[in-house]
Amino acid sequence: MLSLRALPALLGALSAALPGAALPAAEAPARLAAAAERLAAYVRLDTSNPPGDEAAAAELLASILHQRGLATERYISPAGRTSLAARLAATGAAPEDAPVLVLMHHLDVVPAGAGWSAPPFAAEVRDGRLWGRGAIDAKSLGIAQLEAFLAAAELPVRRRELLYLAVADEEAGGTQGTKWLLERHPELFARVEAVLNEGGQNRTVLGRTLFWGIEVTQKRPLWLELEARGRGGHGSALNVESAAHRLIAALARALAAPPGWRISPAARAHFEALAAFDPQARSLAASFERLFGPEGPTRDLLPGMAGYFLDTLQVTRLEASERINVVAPAARAWLDVRLLPDTDAEGYLRALRERLGGDIEVRVLLDAPAVAPAPTDTPLYAELAAALGDGRAPVVPVFIAGVTDSRWLRERGIAAYGVQPFELEWPELGTVHGPDERMPLAVFERGVERMVRVVRALVAPEAAAR
Ligand SMILES: [Zn+2]
Repeated sequence: MLSLRALPALLGALSAALPGAALPAAEAPARLAAAAERLAAYVRLDTSNPPGDEAAAAELLASILHQRGLATERYISPAGRTSLAARLAATGAAPEDAPVLVLMHHLDVVPAGAGWSAPPFAAEVRDGRLWGRGAIDAKSLGIAQLEAFLAAAELPVRRRELLYLAVADEEAGGTQGTKWLLERHPELFARVEAVLNEGGQNRTVLGRTLFWGIEVTQKRPLWLELEARGRGGHGSALNVESAAHRLIAALARALAAPPGWRISPAARAHFEALAAFDPQARSLAASFERLFGPEGPTRDLLPGMAGYFLDTLQVTRLEASERINVVAPAARAWLDVRLLPDTDAEGYLRALRERLGGDIEVRVLLDAPAVAPAPTDTPLYAELAAALGDGRAPVVPVFIAGVTDSRWLRERGIAAYGVQPFELEWPELGTVHGPDERMPLAVFERGVERMVRVVRALVAPEAAAR
């Protein structure tokens, strides 16, 4: 395993060995090298969810904060899942009046899965990239926020209170993390003016950032467990009451339903905001009125685009008998449904139940109400956008087809913004939740600097201007 202490020398050697490879040439400033080391240590702690097991990762972040004399608080959910918080008071304001800015990320990662060309929890550095599950989603963000928090601790004046929050369980829905914290520790979220979380979506092509997208709205999960019951028995017999067959027939009816393509207000606002500087968005927005005909899209949509215009349904897990010659008395399927921000969930569920038929039991495992997008007409949003774009690239509010913990916050009227400081490009962007997740260290270092600058601008604009 490579030590990150040797990183600058290593990168230099690699640059020489690989002509044309996009590797950082200059030695990184000391603070950023330290940040890369912290990211490596964080990635090495396996927080695959399930089971999550965030305690050691929370301990690592806590120990870094303690070394700087900053206190932390641990919150352990009934299922034993650890979240961590640290605070920096505002100066010059009574504590009960200071607005709070929350820097939030999740400690857990999705399981590594197969197909990796580097060990997923070794944080190896290859080709100027740090490889490992969580290197992008979301441990790099957690370290960038940590560096920003530590830098803010040095400021003589802070006009906003800062809360650093590392939460458990995001990848499995957040019920043992953010949702539980909001329900059982609402005091944590008192006086919160805004939360900066994952979910920001910038577009960078060949090193040039076309725009910074601050995520203000997203799709909503509707996770369902379906169960069919029937008559168990021997696989050799005719069995017209097979639970598996009933389930398969019901799923086939559900999947045969024509997709409900539509342009939601969120998608309209998203593509119209991007149209000014993104040719793809401009072309889409210009054809909105004729984008969907009775047969579906009237033009090819780029990969990943369909989710902006559809409630999607994916059958992701199936379960029946464990033996080839045994008919199980029950069969189950799990559906990952993602609704558009304004879809009527009750209506969607009613229609789905009708298609599945009365003999299928449907249990809702996770849902999210329709909520208003985070506001973009506040002074904080204006300051955030100015700091993130830094006068170099436009900043726009965006809608993402994914789901983050921000929905739990918005549900309670808390302004949550997805802010991604890293100028990631393909193919790295495509490795999130897949094999070979990796973070280019040069991108990481610039992103850490950007997050430090953004947070400084929000808590001490006077210091940021200097
Ligand atoms: Zn994430």
